[in-house]
Amino acid sequence: MAKRLDEYQRKRDFTKSPEPAGDQDKARKARTGKARFFCVQKHLASHLHYDFRLEHDGVLLSWAVPKGPSLDPKTKRLAMHVEDHPIEYGTFEGVIPEGYGAGIVMLWDEGTWTPQSEDVDAALAKGDLKFTLDGYKLKGSWVLVRTRGWGNNAKNDGKSWLLIKHRDDWAGDLDITTFAPKSVKSDQDFPEILASESPDIWRTNRPAEGGETGAMLREIIEQAAALKASRTAPAPARTRATSRTKTSRPSRKPDGAARKKRGSK
Ligand code: MN
Repeated sequence: MAKRLDEYQRKRDFTKSPEPAGDQDKARKARTGKARFFCVQKHLASHLHYDFRLEHDGVLLSWAVPKGPSLDPKTKRLAMHVEDHPIEYGTFEGVIPEGYGAGIVMLWDEGTWTPQSEDVDAALAKGDLKFTLDGYKLKGSWVLVRTRGWGNNAKNDGKSWLLIKHRDDWAGDLDITTFAPKSVKSDQDFPEILASESPDIWRTNRPAEGGETGAMLREIIEQAAALKASRTAPAPARTRATSRTKTSRPSRKPDGAARKKRGSK
């Protein structure tokens, strides 16, 4: 059978990337008899998106969902089918400094999933995969359906899918991406994840320079540098303690991260 990780491995230089290379045969053996893993990784790369991944046959089937999952059954979210990823990738959180996918990865949700029919490969071939999720944020019944795309972008390349919540107790009109924006692994947002590694990493060469994403990254890099400075310089941090206590967050600006911080608890 074709090696499911060929495309993933071809796109990356593992001497430069912290991403795992993966070994499908080894993973398939190690995972036999275990509940199927799923995760959603929030990925700020050239654009912000949510990588939706379902464990199958020793790899993670993967879709990039630009707007993230919606709990509202009426809101169908575009999900671009991308290359299979190694199982170990599913718990990764951190910074990809350069190359393919350069950016910050946050483990936004994880748990187990159950396909509605046992033959997942047949469901994929048919373009209709029904399943239930048991994560921290996402639960209940969902479906991924393949579409032809729309308008001038209609390309029948099989890569456009829709991620749709089915109506059940876990459906609702709560915007889960803004209600629960942080990591289920570290409880951190992007600036804190970047600060725990090196905020200087992109000082001269950011993965996204222009537009909305570039602006978002610039802000995150600044916040990460400030966080890091406050941690590595204990004396100045102490002298600033009163002003920090007053605002209880690093910046007085009503910026995205601070807003999210309030909303996520
Ligand atoms: Mn991605």
